[in-house]
Amino acid sequence: MELTFLGTSCMVPTKERNVQAIFLSYKGKGILIDCGEGTQRQMDIAGINRNKVDMILVTHWHGDHVGGIIGLLQTISDKENPPKIQIFGPIGTKKKVNHLLNSVIFEKSNLNLDICELNPKKIEVFKETKDYYIQCAPMNHTIPCIAYSFIEKNIRKINLSKAKKLGLKEGHLLGKLQKGISVNFNDKKIFSKEISSIKKGKKVSFIFDTSINENCYSLAENSDVLVSEAVYLPSLKEKADKYKHLTTQDVGLIANKANVKKLIITHFSQRYKSTDVLEKDVKTYFSDSKCAFDFMKLRI
Ligand SMILES: [Zn+2]
Ligand SMILES: [Zn+2]
Repeated sequence: MELTFLGTSCMVPTKERNVQAIFLSYKGKGILIDCGEGTQRQMDIAGINRNKVDMILVTHWHGDHVGGIIGLLQTISDKENPPKIQIFGPIGTKKKVNHLLNSVIFEKSNLNLDICELNPKKIEVFKETKDYYIQCAPMNHTIPCIAYSFIEKNIRKINLSKAKKLGLKEGHLLGKLQKGISVNFNDKKIFSKEISSIKKGKKVSFIFDTSINENCYSLAENSDVLVSEAVYLPSLKEKADKYKHLTTQDVGLIANKANVKKLIITHFSQRYKSTDVLEKDVKTYFSDSKCAFDFMKLRI
């Protein structure tokens, strides 16, 4: 799994930072977490093929999180056989995407869109494949807002040298053992756990635009990586509360309490000309913290 940070500024783009978008690449699939204005160009610079986007997870409909959706759809619709794109977002997402499509003129009959609205009351799984599932949870922002966790499923790994010792070769018996099913071989029962071990799947959580709330902890719990907005330093806590955003202190506390392994903060107020001060502060609450920058890549 790899994350590419395509925009790390809050509200307005700066010379160094574009507005919010993160590209998650997993086994040839591409998931955008938000798609702020200019995301297409950021993808170009980062060397990400726009046609690799299978899914867009919209956290909420503030402009800095969604301003690039229509441009991206236009580019993708220009293809002969555009890939299917699923767009997930909070209540109102269908109407908003249709407004966007009606606001411009382009050949959209080619578009293969699947728009799904989410209205979680607590943490819910809304997407599951054989490899992973995605959870969502409601946040507490000035408009409906959703946080997401991408969770890779655990996989069972066969110890091939152990299998060889038992005389087991590739084939349907190994396939069954791989699935956790015990098999009979040479008049002996072989239990899957004898020759295999579980490789734990990775979890990455994305928390954007919210004041601190219980769902932040439960969604982020035991994440390998927590990516979170941290718009302000604690000195601007009043502002953070008013606009329902997190401070570096809030995020550090979430990371601590949720037992995450690594914290990446992003979505910084443009008032901070350097993120050194934010990174220094967040590290006082959670040591394995880092400030994201545009085009930063992270392998998980
Ligand atoms: Zn925002
Ligand atoms: Zn917002």
